[in-house]
Amino acid sequence: MKALVVEGPGSISLREVEIPASAGECLIRVTTAGICGTDLQILDGYADFHGVPGHEFVGVVESTPSTSDTAWIGQRVVADINIGCRRCERCAAGVKEHCANRKVVGIRGHDGAFAEYVTVPIENLHAVPDAIDDRTAVFVEPVAAACRILEQLALDDHSRIAVVGDGRLGLLIGQVLRTITPHVVVLGRHPEKLEIARALDLRIGDGKQDVGRFDVVVDATGRPEGIHRALELVRPRGTVVMKSTFHGEATVQSWPIVVNEVTIVGSRCGPFHRAIELLASGVVRTAPLVSAVMTFDQYQMAFEWARRSLKVLFAVQPESV
Ligand SMILES: [Zn+2]
Ligand SMILES: [Zn+2]
Repeated sequence: MKALVVEGPGSISLREVEIPASAGECLIRVTTAGICGTDLQILDGYADFHGVPGHEFVGVVESTPSTSDTAWIGQRVVADINIGCRRCERCAAGVKEHCANRKVVGIRGHDGAFAEYVTVPIENLHAVPDAIDDRTAVFVEPVAAACRILEQLALDDHSRIAVVGDGRLGLLIGQVLRTITPHVVVLGRHPEKLEIARALDLRIGDGKQDVGRFDVVVDATGRPEGIHRALELVRPRGTVVMKSTFHGEATVQSWPIVVNEVTIVGSRCGPFHRAIELLASGVVRTAPLVSAVMTFDQYQMAFEWARRSLKVLFAVQPESV
């Protein structure tokens, strides 16, 4: 099969490799995959990942490890990317995304979906309803990450929220939070991305007249400066949600956090079922975010585009072969 393989920082190539041995996991024929900021960081050396990257994907189940699971075969699916060790306290408590020995599809110790086939454990699968096409289904993983905020904070329709960052994650978070409160504003500085935000009926602002007045500020800039801006905007006793996982350090003055009694919340992976509901109902829209759809042969251009635009997808295999 064709696969994009990372050999080290800055080094990725398209190769012909063996279809992965399923080793107790389901084999998925990948139909569409999305390039995420984390993939670009992996290309730059983050997490010292070697192997096949890619963790936003949709595909069709080709085989299952046990004959009792064959109902999944032929099913269109997306998959939760965290694979716990199944032995530790955190796995027993159902939080495999914090298992110290976890594997993460395409990010940590497990090959990902920039390939014609990928394997994942059966318990990670989620069926994709017909209402969600492939190009939308690749957004389930990032929309789930946005939905994580709903699990972490008690928000209501009075909550005043700023989302700092007009990138792919910021525009998804803005739409997800808007399902709870109308007082959501997206702050960004890229005219072409803000144009897309407007097309999604998101409220755009610069936050200037509301400095120090937001109940919740989400940093989705992907840059070290994001936390500074978030701390300026949040009200005393407000909450800053950190969604940026850039590779490097952010230096912050810590006294305003203390003096203003700000709660800082780290936020990562979230519930797939909720993301699937929001995408199936059309409440969260993703089509305007897709900048380009390319093939693996165009991978260099695809990664280059992904750095400068919102979402670049790979069309990998047809749904049926
Ligand atoms: Zn991602
Ligand atoms: Zn574990």
